[in-house]
Amino acid sequence: MIGSASEHEDIRDSVRRLIERDVLPVMGGHEREGTFPHGVVRSMGEAGLFGAAFPEEVNGTGLGFGAVAVIAEEISRQRPDLGVTMNSQAMTCPLTIWNWGTDDQVRRFVPDLIGGRRIGMFGLSESGGGSDAFGSMKTVAERRGDRYVLNGSKMWITLADQCEAGLIFARTSRDDGHAGVSAFVIEPKTQKGYSTQPIAMPGLSPVIRSCAVFLDDVEVPVENRLGQEGEGFKVAMGALDYGRLSVASRLVGAAQACFDLARDYARTRVVGGQAIGRYQMVQQQLADMAVEIEAARLLTRQTAALMDAGAPARRAASYAKYFAGAAAKRAAQATAEIFGGYALAADYPVGFFSAHIAMLATGEGSPNVQRVLIAEDALGWKDANRHPPRRRPSTLRNAVPENVDR
Ligand SMILES: Cc1cc2nc3c(=O)[nH]c(=O)nc-3n(C[C@H](O)[C@H](O)[C@H](O)COP(=O)(O)OP(=O)(O)OC[C@H]3O[C@@H](n4cnc5c(N)ncnc54)[C@H](O)[C@@H]3O)c2cc1C
Repeated sequence: MIGSASEHEDIRDSVRRLIERDVLPVMGGHEREGTFPHGVVRSMGEAGLFGAAFPEEVNGTGLGFGAVAVIAEEISRQRPDLGVTMNSQAMTCPLTIWNWGTDDQVRRFVPDLIGGRRIGMFGLSESGGGSDAFGSMKTVAERRGDRYVLNGSKMWITLADQCEAGLIFARTSRDDGHAGVSAFVIEPKTQKGYSTQPIAMPGLSPVIRSCAVFLDDVEVPVENRLGQEGEGFKVAMGALDYGRLSVASRLVGAAQACFDLARDYARTRVVGGQAIGRYQMVQQQLADMAVEIEAARLLTRQTAALMDAGAPARRAASYAKYFAGAAAKRAAQATAEIFGGYALAADYPVGFFSAHIAMLATGEGSPNVQRVLIAEDALGWKDANRHPPRRRPSTLRNAVPENVDR
């Protein structure tokens, strides 16, 4: 693993301080107005929160995936909604461009994404079923000379209404099943035919929206195709492994927030003449939460260590995502029980964390999707680690252009 445990604790402290100083004071205003916190994302990028998986040549910090896990966890412990930026600005979007992109694509998109200057997205799911994203994919990309023309729609795409440089997956062949899908980098703000409809999601933060996306003759230059035609499945699967590390870590952070709330409440809420934390059944709930959260954390760290070593990590990422989702749901449920009726009071953010945990448990593959992957691997039918991970092998030629902010 890159970075020792004490280095990771230093990183956690820095992230905590940055969020307390620069983020929390302005988020209330964004929540009231329902506006996207561009300035916050930019300051997080400038502070290096999104660059841990990237080398210095693209303005990354090179701290590694262990640091990614710590940063994602700490952001989500404080603001589970802002945790989405760890995918759009740090993992699924820019890391996929880094791993699969040409030198030119990396230069054009990666530094701005991890710097928080342009907002990313990962456009895979469609209304026909996110669990079978490739089988149900209807969006098509038709090649016309030096361009592709995209038509179709996507569903649930987070930050699609803010995106400036993001990924879209589309069918380039109707006959080849999973091999008929290709990946593209699109720049929605400058492209005709791109529109979004935010999805109302009661309980979740109004600041970060997921959207239906409509693609109506959207033209994408051939040089924006990521990987070869037909490689979209491999591109997406690799991205989801990294996304699962991020989402599992975000689940650990949100679960830790629930535990912290429950512990503090159990210490101070007096019922029947003593703090409710004195009652054995409440103690059992707290003990189960503490151990399960730590176990989930260790699974994320194991996944990060494999990724830092360049080893196959799909099995570990799936274990981490599956267990962290279950542990976080149990933590949210136990916290709500410990708070009794006060769990429903707006003064306490129990429901807020619970809603974000439910969302995270589904994204990047539902619990059943993880169960299928884990069981088929365990049965010996489909080795989860059969594909070597795709990591950019070499350094860039000419690295970042002079005019990009460092
Ligand atoms: C808030 C939010 C943000 C999201 N952001 C993004 C994003 O940025 N980009 C993106 O591409 N997607 C995004 N998603 C989509 C997400 O990945 C999907 O919701 C998820 O993959 C599940 O797909 P679905 O909701 O269509 O459920 P479905 O696929 O319809 O599944 C419904 C239920 O059936 C079960 N099921 C399905 N197939 C099987 C099977 N073979 N065996 C057993 N059970 C099965 C599932 O586990 C689930 O419980 C987001 C979703 C949400 C809710």
